Amino acid sequence: IYEGLLADRSGSIAFTSWSDFALQAGQTVRIAGGYVRMFRNRPQLNLDERSVVARIEGADLPQPAEVLSTPSRPIAEIEEAGGGESVALEGVILGLLPPSGLVYRCPTCRRAVAGGICPTHGAVQGVADLRGRFVVDDGSGSATVNAAREGTEMLWGVSLEGALARLRDAPDPTLLEEQLFEATFGTHVRVRGRVSKDDFGLTVYPESIERVSIDVPTRARELAARLGS
Ligand SMILES: [Zn+2]
Repeated sequence: IYEGLLADRSGSIAFTSWSDFALQAGQTVRIAGGYVRMFRNRPQLNLDERSVVARIEGADLPQPAEVLSTPSRPIAEIEEAGGGESVALEGVILGLLPPSGLVYRCPTCRRAVAGGICPTHGAVQGVADLRGRFVVDDGSGSATVNAAREGTEMLWGVSLEGALARLRDAPDPTLLEEQLFEATFGTHVRVRGRVSKDDFGLTVYPESIERVSIDVPTRARELAARLGS
């Protein structure tokens, strides 16, 4: 399966392809014979062997860098729009939702396993992984950022190996979750990725997570400029 993002000047949509169309980042294409399905409450374009993909020239389309360097938007505005495919937002970590911290995944399908049982693959030897479901608030609203191992390690400052070593010293996974929360609470972050909306609010599946160090003089100038205009 191939996955990616298609964009024009009106917006972007995620796609999944069951056939190899030799697509590469930055190519300009015209697609016929695809179909749209909802995936995590967002429309997704599906391509299969009946789809026709043609390379075209001279279309007025944004460069990939433009699509990926979108400025941060207020969370309330993202919620109003129902999410988005490549959206950036910025806020402060105010909460951590379970399951966060150390989780065990099925080695085949990567789903979290409870009690060593995968719903699809039965009894499995779970593979340790780190995740963090961070509640990020920007004052206009909040979103749950579903961070995978790399993002969680970066924000926590503790690696998966480090977390496993802590667990050997104190065999209580809830302690790890508390330590993760204490270490990340109040951290100012900027995230970019796919944002979906459902009854529980906004969920971000980040492609990038960065810590933001608040540069007070720059912030003050931005604020002054906004007030002046
Ligand atoms: Zn499985």
